[in-house]
Amino acid sequence: MQRLSALLGAALALGGASVAHAQQLPPEWTHGATCYEIMVRSFQDSDGDGIGDFKGLISRLDYVNDGNPHSTRSLGARCIWLTPFTASPSYHGYDATDYYTVAKAYGSNADFKRFVAEAHKRGIKVIFDLVLNHVSSEHPWFQSALRDTASPYRDWFIWSKTPTPVKNWQGTVWAKSPVRDEYYYGIFWSGMPDLNYRNPAVVAEAEKIGKYWLTEMGVDGFRFDAIPYLVETDGVVAHTPATHQLLHDYQAYLRTVKPDVYTVGEVTYPNDTLLTYYPEQLESYFAFEVADSLIAAVKNGKASGMLAPVLRLQADVPSNRFAPLLSNHDQPRVRTKLGGDMQKTRLATFLLMTMPGVPFIYYGDDIGMIGDKPDPRIRTPMQWTSAKGAGFTTGTPWEALAPDSATVTVAAEDRDPHSVLTMVRRMVHLRASNHALSDGELIPLTASNDAVSAFVRRDGDRAVLVIANLSTTPLRDVTLSSTTAAIAPGSWTLRDLLGASHATSLHVDASGKLSGYVPLAELAPLEGYLFELTPARPER
Ligand code: CA
Repeated sequence: MQRLSALLGAALALGGASVAHAQQLPPEWTHGATCYEIMVRSFQDSDGDGIGDFKGLISRLDYVNDGNPHSTRSLGARCIWLTPFTASPSYHGYDATDYYTVAKAYGSNADFKRFVAEAHKRGIKVIFDLVLNHVSSEHPWFQSALRDTASPYRDWFIWSKTPTPVKNWQGTVWAKSPVRDEYYYGIFWSGMPDLNYRNPAVVAEAEKIGKYWLTEMGVDGFRFDAIPYLVETDGVVAHTPATHQLLHDYQAYLRTVKPDVYTVGEVTYPNDTLLTYYPEQLESYFAFEVADSLIAAVKNGKASGMLAPVLRLQADVPSNRFAPLLSNHDQPRVRTKLGGDMQKTRLATFLLMTMPGVPFIYYGDDIGMIGDKPDPRIRTPMQWTSAKGAGFTTGTPWEALAPDSATVTVAAEDRDPHSVLTMVRRMVHLRASNHALSDGELIPLTASNDAVSAFVRRDGDRAVLVIANLSTTPLRDVTLSSTTAAIAPGSWTLRDLLGASHATSLHVDASGKLSGYVPLAELAPLEGYLFELTPARPER
């Protein structure tokens, strides 16, 4: 694939003719931004029914970002991705029965608008989780199509007399109609019939939904669910040319409604496949391969190969066009992936926050909650305090709290300098203020010990040095080297941005390479270090 950055550069050089390419860049606020994923149902209950709601979420907004860039008691996240909250028969909402109305348990559309206003007041953008692929089988559109072959919604879905075979998919995609002798298409399960995007009326409805949330409800962008499966053609269920075209066209449409819309898509495939969704479709996508490599490195204490996925993305895509993460609402929680180890969780979080891209953190992972499948157990209520309902509710939580709810809480970690929460808060704020850390090129270094990951993030003459000891033992006299120019030649003072050690110095010769450099005599077990390089002033 052609290098996208080079392509964009060429396009920009053409001036007016480049508009189509230039418009693919995400909005300016994404530079240095961290996003926070929230399930409304599990964040804060305001009325004691055990179900989180928008009034509760508003009351917790200062935790996410209190609007003060210097605050140390606020995450400082610049955007919130809300998982689906419109009417649905399920607790998770990924099967809508109404795309336009907030589910009653969470409040009203007016409550949502109040939430958006309160978020915007604090500098938080709001990202709506848009499920275009399918609806609930209880959606009135589907019920009409199912029961009446003359229904105007009949061609909004995909029907077949026989369950015809499909390619590149394990599992059943055809569900038997309960009404007549036929089948309907639903890639995930019979309760989620796929919409038929070969029908222009469905595309028009999808545009109407997008426009409604951008203009009437004031959201700033969308997270797109399950996009590889949007348009199935000739029995191929995923990544079809028609799907790529639809994404391109839908993005272009959203731009006409809101020029600075932000979009991020879910493509749960490795980079080879992910890269086929650039350059001109959605603005950005989650980098699942980066998540896997970071988790594996910390879990196994081995740095080799950890950076390969992010280097691959960096080579082809501008940094704010991909979104690294460690976990989300579909996966075991970060600490569970790491065997329950809180120190490893803290280190993995540190590494996530040193990656290029726009990092996303799943609520609860900011304090190292545990949670494993089945799904409701990775979506348990946020643990604010050690009170009976975890400070989440005065009633009975909709789903039982995680077993560590009495000890792993925001209250317990709030002022603990070594907590996951403190690490998250510091790194979010550092990314917001340090351009090398948020947008700089990642240049890998070679460490003399494979348990150490080290790299530079460089933006012109500004740079930060990242070092992580992935092992559970202290390591002495680890040396760092580079095969290519890593740092601008000159004398540098290294300032520890996390305050764990004293400043050290570094002299780089004209080659810009590092050779046998010992940044610290000892690297503590499962510890991350972040140094800012500033030019050393010659003594007079
Ligand atoms: Ca409630």
